[in-house]
Amino acid sequence: MQDRYGHRISYLRVSITDRCNERCTYCMPLELQEWLPREGILTFEETLRLIRIAADLGVSKVRVTGGEPLTRRDVVDFVRRIPEILGIKSIGLSTNGTLLGREIAPGKTMAAALRDAGVQSVNISLDTLDREVYSQITGRDFHRQVLSGIDAAIATGFEQIKLNTVLMRNRNEEQLIPLIEFAGAHDLILRFIEMMPVSTTDVLDENNFVSILETKRSIESFYGTLIPETEFRTNGPATYYQIPGRKQRVGFIGAMTNLHFCENCNKLRLTCDGKLRPCLGSYLEFDIMKPLRAGATDEELRQFFVHVVERKPEQHDFRDNYQPNRRMIAIGG
Ligand code: SAM
Ligand code: SF4
Repeated sequence: MQDRYGHRISYLRVSITDRCNERCTYCMPLELQEWLPREGILTFEETLRLIRIAADLGVSKVRVTGGEPLTRRDVVDFVRRIPEILGIKSIGLSTNGTLLGREIAPGKTMAAALRDAGVQSVNISLDTLDREVYSQITGRDFHRQVLSGIDAAIATGFEQIKLNTVLMRNRNEEQLIPLIEFAGAHDLILRFIEMMPVSTTDVLDENNFVSILETKRSIESFYGTLIPETEFRTNGPATYYQIPGRKQRVGFIGAMTNLHFCENCNKLRLTCDGKLRPCLGSYLEFDIMKPLRAGATDEELRQFFVHVVERKPEQHDFRDNYQPNRRMIAIGG
């Protein structure tokens, strides 16, 4: 599938729930959430069918996300069926890490079960190493669980583990070096992410925003000039650098300030309530649950995907005062 601007779509991010066991300020407001009713969520069968259709059209990478995907019951059984889909070569998972270390069978952690089920790469959110600040950001005192979740993931031997840190003024600016040292000591890739206007919370204003450029400068004042790694790419829009004198890599995801951010976009999103979104930073979304539940054939669903991709915008609207019509948690990060 290719859009009008030459973006070739090979990557589907699949959100399987809008629920979460945390309340990150930049993702969802603290006040009580209204979750979607169960019948409003795609069943795993329905989701697998849509992944199959996407794979027919050239999607080779799937990332399972949410909400917190590991809060959904039977997630491991669902994930196990993805590698059976012809054409899917790579399976990733985005998680807050809180449940990765949980023992789900005697001697088996959630991380190990996911690895056995075929997950190759895991992205774990970690904004700070300070337990108190962690609780302030996420609304939950789960820092210890996340650290043991990271240990469980490492012990499991995923092909790739990345840590993701959302940058926030007065929250984690002091944490850049400790986080880099932590990632280095565990041989993990760390990525810094500019905060995007994808929540309805007040936290998203100019006073809280920290740019990639500023972050890179702070890091360089400590380690020296970072060495660009132009050849290294994962599936996403991050740019990577090496810490001088080390084998360690850090990544930067600057959706707000990198004007080339959308140039190589290869992504399409499926929300847990059955909407296809061609871009995170655009209002456009298309309800595929309706035809799916009305008995559409595979060919009709394939055509639906193709139409959505044809409408993919050239770039996101974040810089044009884009205000989300749904919270990040309901889109799937
Ligand atoms: N619950 C999982 C987690 O926290 O990793 C997966 C879903 S979460 C929505 C996916 C990613 O989006 C996380 O790395 C999170 O930090 C990031 N995220 C959420 N809200 C964001 C925002 N306003 N700006 C930038 N990144 C955000
Ligand atoms: Fe939950 Fe992830 Fe959103 Fe935090 S960023 S509230 S962990 S979905």
